[in-house]
Amino acid sequence: MKIKLDDIPEEGLSLDVIAEGKDLEAIAGGLDFSIPAPVSAHLDVMSAEGRVIVKGQMSARAAFSCARCLKIFEQPLNSEISLFFVRGKAGVQGREHELTGDDLEVNYIEGPELDTDEILLSQIALEAPMQPLCAVDCKGLCPACGADLNAGPCGCRIPVEKIDARLAGLKDFKVK
Ligand SMILES: [Zn+2]
Ligand SMILES: [Zn+2]
Repeated sequence: MKIKLDDIPEEGLSLDVIAEGKDLEAIAGGLDFSIPAPVSAHLDVMSAEGRVIVKGQMSARAAFSCARCLKIFEQPLNSEISLFFVRGKAGVQGREHELTGDDLEVNYIEGPELDTDEILLSQIALEAPMQPLCAVDCKGLCPACGADLNAGPCGCRIPVEKIDARLAGLKDFKVK
């Protein structure tokens, strides 16, 4: 949803927005996870004197591929939204940094509109784990046969350390 900044009343806007996961994926281009369900958020938007404050809560679900066993799993991504925007191009207002203090990150809005889809996307990207794991104790895949070790032992008798040592030897061989 796009909000014309000049149309925001003095008392601010209170919005409930819903964005289709597929639409957000399309806007993002190449995400390494998918958004299988609609993303909803409550946003309070205040705009005055070229500054825009957005506060609210987001509720989303994303599907990740486990970094260890590659299984696809869904995880809720709920977060508080608290954003501060300055209208204009980044770097033009040299004094903004002093005005807002060091701990508040300043975002810039160049056009006449605030895009709530972009806010949701950046919030999702912020909440998404760097190393998604289906479970904290996921055992991963057997490096020898590729079996999912969460389903039980695969029967391979080669200890993991030995395989690592062999691979290391192989690397040395290639270099020489
Ligand atoms: Zn896993
Ligand atoms: Zn195995």
